[in-house]
Amino acid sequence: MASNTLQRRGLMFILSSPSGAGKTTISRMLLDRDPEIRLSVSATTRPIRPGEQDGVHYHFVDQGEFDRMVEADEFYEWATVFGHSYGTPKAQIRAGLKEGRDFLFDIDWQGTQQLYQKDQQDVVRVFILPPSIDELRRRLTGRGTDSAEVIAARMERARAEISHWDGYDYVVVNDDVEACYAQVCEILHAERMKRARQTGLIGFVRELMKD
Ligand code: 5GP
Repeated sequence: MASNTLQRRGLMFILSSPSGAGKTTISRMLLDRDPEIRLSVSATTRPIRPGEQDGVHYHFVDQGEFDRMVEADEFYEWATVFGHSYGTPKAQIRAGLKEGRDFLFDIDWQGTQQLYQKDQQDVVRVFILPPSIDELRRRLTGRGTDSAEVIAARMERARAEISHWDGYDYVVVNDDVEACYAQVCEILHAERMKRARQTGLIGFVRELMKD
């Protein structure tokens, strides 16, 4: 039996980047191509949008239920965004990690810090950078229909996010999307192989050492 088929503990894989650096594309590629990783489903108080499914895109809850979950310490982290509450429920993730499932988090640096503080051993933090500021501006300019002010505000937000690059375990430059995806996969595969995550090793080695 190859060592990478041994039982292992899952991990919490965080991808952060300024908007326009390709995080959403890389996340989608990972979810489409790697059956062992799934998106963490947050709870939120915001109304459900057309096309969304409860339990798939979010767990849609009312404010009373959300407050109860905060009180009961049922979130890894939570925040208020545009007037609605969002949080990462612990229970589903704890159970999944134990069974060797990996969870993908598409969150900003603040959410990353909170998750890391709660669970350092299971968290792997990856930051994606654009290849240059000109390329980022080009990607944020979109179809050319936005005003100079809107683009300037987006660039400012991107710069603020980039300034937190040093709070991550890995930093990948997204010059070419397939190359960036390949690097992200290398990180994920190596992290899965870490001795501390390979919970099946003790039994496997004990078997090897028999007489
Ligand atoms: P939307 O309502 O458009 O799906 O998401 C609005 C914002 O909430 C996004 O910036 C998204 O990253 C953030 N968000 C979604 N889920 C969570 C969560 O569990 N925790 C935190 N801190 N933010 C979240």
